[in-house]
This record gives sequence, structure tokens and C-alpha cells, in this order.
Amino acid sequence: MAISNNIRPGRHFLQIPGPTNVPDRVLRAMDYPTIDHRGPDFAELGLRVLERIKLIFKTSEPVIIFPASGTGAWEAALVNTLSAGDKILMFETGHFSTLWWDIAQKFKIEVDFVEGDWRTGVDPNIVEQKLKEDKDKKIKAVCAVHNETSTGVTSRIGEIRKAMDNAGHPALLFVDTISSLGSIDYRHEEWKVDVTVGGSQKGLLLPPGLSFNAISSKALEAYKTSELPKSYWDWGPMLENNKKGYFPYTPATNLFYGLDEAINMLTEEGLDNVFKRHKRFAEATRVAVNSWGLEILCKNPEEYSDSLTAVMVPDGHDADFLRKTILDHYNMSLGTGLAKVAGKIFRIGHLGDFNELMLAGTLAGVEMGLMKSKIPYKKGGILKALEYLC
Ligand SMILES: *Cc1c(COP(=O)(O)O)cnc(C)c1O
Repeated sequence: MAISNNIRPGRHFLQIPGPTNVPDRVLRAMDYPTIDHRGPDFAELGLRVLERIKLIFKTSEPVIIFPASGTGAWEAALVNTLSAGDKILMFETGHFSTLWWDIAQKFKIEVDFVEGDWRTGVDPNIVEQKLKEDKDKKIKAVCAVHNETSTGVTSRIGEIRKAMDNAGHPALLFVDTISSLGSIDYRHEEWKVDVTVGGSQKGLLLPPGLSFNAISSKALEAYKTSELPKSYWDWGPMLENNKKGYFPYTPATNLFYGLDEAINMLTEEGLDNVFKRHKRFAEATRVAVNSWGLEILCKNPEEYSDSLTAVMVPDGHDADFLRKTILDHYNMSLGTGLAKVAGKIFRIGHLGDFNELMLAGTLAGVEMGLMKSKIPYKKGGILKALEYLC
């Protein structure tokens, strides 16, 4: 292909549901010499970031930071608390919950994997029922993906917590917040979550490369008896080194500068305002999708995701062809349908550093793509969304 075909003036629209657009303030904060990670300057930065990241998880308990993608933090949550043969409860809400299940199986954890339709979240009633049936209290942990990024469905963690309390069951609660942290209200401590898994590249305004385990004292108790092998992911040396702001191995120094600045940005805006902004843009997106006459993959309005919307294309049409058309002609990347929903859906990311006009551009790109790829739809969804925003 001639090079000239690849020249795309103007800014690329990265509207996948993560990695998200990194704000200039964060990019500038990282554009700084790498320092000695065992020197005094790093300790100051390390202590500051380790303390302030707790605000984002809404916890007063330790948060462990790994130089890794989110997948590493999934593994860390399991290997630090469980032993081979332990029983846990997981839910098939979509592709990401399936991948987490896969990791658990590789470690010979016995998983009761509740099948799902990829259009609904974790049902708190099933959690309660399963735990009540477990008379011998064999289930060690309940795992839930807060925001299932493959489907645009948000599970109600507060209600899952209540269901666990109603059952009077001692199981640990593990929650993946990789695409909800810093976008959708989340309360590690209030919801008595034992391990919260997070990642840097979605609502946290950073490039990929950091992941998190926010842990509870109950999780630390489980750590003491957990027998699964762990080395890189071991919480023990992390917590020991973190006391003085250091790490057992080289941390992602420059991403720490960025994280420090990202926390500044989120706290300056105020987390509640950040959540409201995401809700408003998500609602505007749904207004557009509905008036295009297209179907949202998420079935229950109370589970609509505020960080992304997964949209079904009519039967006989290919969502990836639409995505390719939009990328080729309008320089915008949208999320692809993963695994079971490949070709059937596309995903609009509306999370992170995002404002009205970025959303307007994003929705305009989708509407132009629908027009150009001859997918049947009703014109004018973009205007309806703009009216909603005014
Ligand atoms: C992106 C994502 C992951 C995977 O994170 P990686 O950084 O790609 O390893 C896991 N869970 C959810 C909910 C995600 O959105």
C-alpha cells in the first residue's frame, strides 16, 4: 500500500475501552529522567503514590503496585490467597471473566463457573443461593468483574456484598475493576472487598504497564496460609519494601510520575464529579444508539456501563467491517467484539480523559461509519445525543 494512504492528518481518535487517551499533563509528568529506584528521591515518590492511590480505591488498607498488565494482578490475587484444590465461585459475564477463570484453572483451583449470556452481570441472588447451599463453607472466594469490558455490563458489587452478608458466609470477595476504577463509583473498604484488581491504562489516565491489588486484612490472613507458588507476585516482599517507599525489584519509575499526576487530576476534579461525567457521557451515547435503532448488548438498564457501550449490528452485517470503515476513513479506533460476540458488536469507549466535543466527534464518526458501510439505521442519533448534553 502506498505510504500516502497511511497519512492521517489531525488527531487519532482512540475510542476503544482502554487503553484510553493519556492526557497531556500525564504525558509531561512522565517526560522526566529516570531516577535511582533505590535512592532517596524515589522513596519520597513511592511513599506518596502508595498512600494517595488508596483514595482512588476508597480504602485505608495497602495497595500493591506491580509493573505489569492487569492480567498479572489477576494472577496475583489468586496465588497470594489460595491453595491448589481450593473452591471458588466465578461468573461468566463475558470475555474477561472467562480469562480470569482460565488462570484459576491453570493453578488447579476448583471453580464453580456460573454460565452467563454475555448480556447481564453477576446476579446477587445466585451469589446468595450458592453460598447458602455451601453448608460446609468450602467456597474460599467469590470473584466478580465489576465492569465487563467485553460486553459493557457493570455488576452491582454493593449488592453482591449484601448477598454474601445475607448468606453469612466467610468467603473472600475478589473484584476486577480494571475498566471501572476512576470511571465508575467503587468502594473497596465499604463493600468489604478483599482483593481489588486494577490496571493503569483505562480509567486511570495512564499508559499500560501498572496493575494493582488493593487488599484487606482478611486477604492478608489468607496470604499466610496460601500454598500456591508465587515469586514475582508475592505480596510479602512488596509490603515489606513498600513501608519505606521501595520495591523488591525495579518499579516502572516513569509510570509512577504519571500516576502521581493522574491522581492529582482525579482528585482536583473530584471523584464524584468524575463519575457523574462518565454517567452523562454514557447516557448521551445510549441516546444516540437508541435513536439509531441499534441494540445495546447490555440487557438491564441498571447494569449499563458508564465506561463503554457495546452496540449490536443488525443480523447479516459485520461489526468489524464497520470498525474498519471508521478507522480507514475517519481515523478512529473502536473496540472489537471479543470471542463469543466477535463480528456481532462494536464497543465505544467513553472513559478516561474525555469531554463533550470528544464524545460528539466519536458519535459523529460512528454515524458516518454507519452511513458509509450501508448498515441500516435511523439518521440523527448524534443530534439527539447533543440535545441530551445541552
Ligand atoms: C483490560 C481488562 C483486563 C486485562 O487487562 P490487561 O492489562 O490487558 O492484562 C482484565 N479485566 C478487565 C475488566 C479489563 O477491562
